[in-house]
Amino acid sequence: MYSVAIDGPAGAGKSSVAKAVAAKLGFIYVDTGALYRTVALHLLKNNISADDVKAVEASLPNIEVSLAHKEDGQHVYLGGEDVSSLIRTPEVSMMASTSSAIPAVRKFLFSLQTGMAEKYNVIMDGRDIGTVVLPNAQAKIFLTASPEVRAKRRYDEYIAKGEDADYEAILKDVIQRDYQDMNRETAPLKPAKDGVIVDSSDMSFDEVVEKLTEIVRSVMTE
Ligand code: C5P
Repeated sequence: MYSVAIDGPAGAGKSSVAKAVAAKLGFIYVDTGALYRTVALHLLKNNISADDVKAVEASLPNIEVSLAHKEDGQHVYLGGEDVSSLIRTPEVSMMASTSSAIPAVRKFLFSLQTGMAEKYNVIMDGRDIGTVVLPNAQAKIFLTASPEVRAKRRYDEYIAKGEDADYEAILKDVIQRDYQDMNRETAPLKPAKDGVIVDSSDMSFDEVVEKLTEIVRSVMTE
C-alpha cells in the first residue's frame, strides 16, 4: 500500500490538489479535516463548549462518525446522516479548530484514519498526517501559501458559490486558525522532518498538481 500525507494550513489548496492527484494516480482521497468538522458539528448541535474538555470527552462515545467514498468523492456521516455539506460553515471551521486541540478528540479519530491507509492507497490531507497519523507514509508534503493568498482563495470560493463573503473576516479567521493549529500541544501543525515543503502562493493549481504528482511518482518507482 502507498500512503501520501499532505499537511498544511487552512486554505492552502490541499483538498482540491489532493483530489486531483488522487484521481490521476487512482488513490483514495481522505479528507481528515472533515472528520474533525463532524465531531465539531456534533458538539455544536448538542451545545457542548470546546472549553469544557470533560463534557467533550464524555460526548465522544455518543458520536458515530463514518466515511464513504463515492464517485463524487468523500462523504462523511454523523450517526448515519450525510453531513458532508453541513460541516462547511465558518462556525464549524472554528469549532473544529478549537475542539481538535483536545487529545481525546484526536485519539477518537486516529484509528479511522489509519484504518483507511491499511486498506487503500491513500492521499490523506490534514495537519498531522505526516507527523503523527502516517509517519511511515512514502511521500510527505507540506503544502502552504501566505495567509493573504489563502484568504483570497476562500473568498473566491464563497463568491463562486453565490454566497456572501467578507475578505477581512476570512483573513482574520485564517490567521486565528493557523495560530491555534500551530500552537496546540497535541499534534501541532508543522512540516514532517522528512517532508517536502511546497509553497503554492505563486503557483497555479495545475502547477501544484503536477509538482505533487511528480513527488508521489518518484517515490512509487523507488
Ligand atoms: O482541513 P480543515 O480546514 O477542514 O480542518 C478543520 C480543522 O480541523 C483544522 O483547522 C484543524 O484544527 C483540524 N484538523 C486537525 N487535524 C487534521 C485535520 C484537521 O487538527 N488532520
